[in-house]
Amino acid sequence: MDCIFCKIVNGEIPTKKVYENENMLGFYDVSPQAPVHILLIPKEHITSAADISKENSLVVAHIFEVASKLSKELNLSDGFRIVTNCGESAGQSVKHLHFHLMGGRNFSWPPG
Ligand code: AMP
Repeated sequence: MDCIFCKIVNGEIPTKKVYENENMLGFYDVSPQAPVHILLIPKEHITSAADISKENSLVVAHIFEVASKLSKELNLSDGFRIVTNCGESAGQSVKHLHFHLMGGRNFSWPPG
């Protein structure tokens, strides 16, 4: 499968990692939209949030647990945002489930 995030998981494409365990990976976004912009992904290929199921959802809970931990380590106590874009109309450009953890600036609501 020609998936850029699977290639990152396999080490074929280099990234600046911030967290890794057997199930998930956290690395800096190559095109940051905030002073802190990290992507948290399952190592298993899950296409999007629409493909989260009873069988694979444990890693999603783990990703949020790590997001909480990283928010403290990266001094995001003022606030941060976790976003997952799902599908074309939401602007998902990489078809491997990922959560953007962003902080270090103010965010508007609703998002554009
Ligand atoms: P989305 O548009 O929500 O699918 O987010 C995909 C994100 O992946 C974008 O913010 C990209 O900047 C980021 N991205 C794409 N390729 C890489 C890469 N090789 N390393 C780090 N981040 C990447």
